[in-house]
Amino acid sequence: MKIGFIGLGNMGAPMAANLAAAGHDVVGFDVAGTTALGVTPVASAVAAATQRDIVITMLPNGDILRAVAGDIIPAMQSGATLIDCSTVDVDSARAVADQAQTAGMLTVDAPVSGGIGGAAGGTLTFMAGGSADAFAVAQPLFDIMGQKAVHCGEAGAGQAAKICNNMILGATMIATCEAFALADKLGLERQKMFDVASTSSGYSWSMNAYCPAPGVGPQSPADNGYAPGFASELMLKDLGLSQQAAEAVDADTPMGARALELYRQFVEDEGGKGRDFSAMLPRFETRGRS
Ligand code: NAD
Repeated sequence: MKIGFIGLGNMGAPMAANLAAAGHDVVGFDVAGTTALGVTPVASAVAAATQRDIVITMLPNGDILRAVAGDIIPAMQSGATLIDCSTVDVDSARAVADQAQTAGMLTVDAPVSGGIGGAAGGTLTFMAGGSADAFAVAQPLFDIMGQKAVHCGEAGAGQAAKICNNMILGATMIATCEAFALADKLGLERQKMFDVASTSSGYSWSMNAYCPAPGVGPQSPADNGYAPGFASELMLKDLGLSQQAAEAVDADTPMGARALELYRQFVEDEGGKGRDFSAMLPRFETRGRS
């Protein structure tokens, strides 16, 4: 396949490199001038999109995606497929899909989970929205860059799944951290707390797979000084997207709203920026009720 990759950041560069390593002809562009192993650099997003079977974007947010899409869609060849792997708002995903489909392209919104490690190791999970035909074109590439791809529905469904999943994650991580901090104050050993909660109804991915208490459970960013992992500011971004979506469709999401407030406070006022999102535990440890 002739692939154009736009956005060679922490996630995009290793994803593009994996496609090149699998034998695809990949050209890439990033405004910051970053490159990726095996990927031929080109001078602009339009150059990366011209005469390519597939164009993949991995960009910071929906405004940038809309701007890039506005530039590249007129340059793409008819029948090409645009796959956006960024995490963006559902409205931007649908607007870009509409624009591209009107111009004769196939589109997939395919945000990922699995982080930088998953991007490097080719073990991402893709949550995809788009037609069955578009998903069929994208699936072999998802198989190279990831270990699982779920076709969630029509355009925007991938982003909807991503932000709902991460709203659960934000709320459960906070709940897990505050429970550990309470257990500490009640004199309970952390290992005992883990042994009980991880095998009882306190079970969750935050508890079992990504335990925020250092030295307890499987290896996680807590065992590495809370270096990300998944940075708190990225969780803040995703919680913001879920509240934006909830407002748009009049959904009542009080836990998501509270999680957003707590991560905003943590990132903006309490030094949480650049720390893993599980560093909520040391935050709670130092606090009382007021
Ligand atoms: P990043 O900031 O490292 O990479 C984004 C890249 O886009 C940057 O290199 C930037 O220079 C480039 N860019 C910005 N505007 C551009 C433009 N107009 N044209 C071309 N390139 C442009 O971010 P990342 O960590 O790679 O994340 C990318 C996306 O993936 C985000 O939407 C993020 O929310 C999502 N995501 C990240 C993670 C993670 O753990 N890092 C996990 C899941 C999803």
